[in-house]
Amino acid sequence: MSKKVLALIAHDNKKDEMVAWAKANIDKLKEYSLCGTGTTSKRVEDATGLKVKGYLSGPLGGDLQIGGKVAEKEIDAIVFFWDPLSAQPHDPDVKALLRIAVVYNIPIATNTATADLII
Ligand code: PGA
Repeated sequence: MSKKVLALIAHDNKKDEMVAWAKANIDKLKEYSLCGTGTTSKRVEDATGLKVKGYLSGPLGGDLQIGGKVAEKEIDAIVFFWDPLSAQPHDPDVKALLRIAVVYNIPIATNTATADLII
């Protein structure tokens, strides 16, 4: 059986939290095929040694790429630690990703409590 595909995305103020969460859950994450936006994927890969396929950085279209993969049914779940306290230049892309995850009814965790439940 092929591994489920899990996308990881964290805004800048949330990247340390994403890395800590990934390290704490490394054994569970090994069961997934991982991908993520550019910087997040690199940070998680460096911290855990897990292979994380990198898309473009979020502000340069990475969220939209991942949204496109959701529409193509190639992503099964998303962990998306967005920053509720800072404005993002790519806010429309963030909204688009949240929207498409709902349209395709895939799990999308936006904090560690939910991410724990998903994996
Ligand atoms: P990044 O993108 O992982 O390339 O920083 C995340 C985002 O800001 O959406």
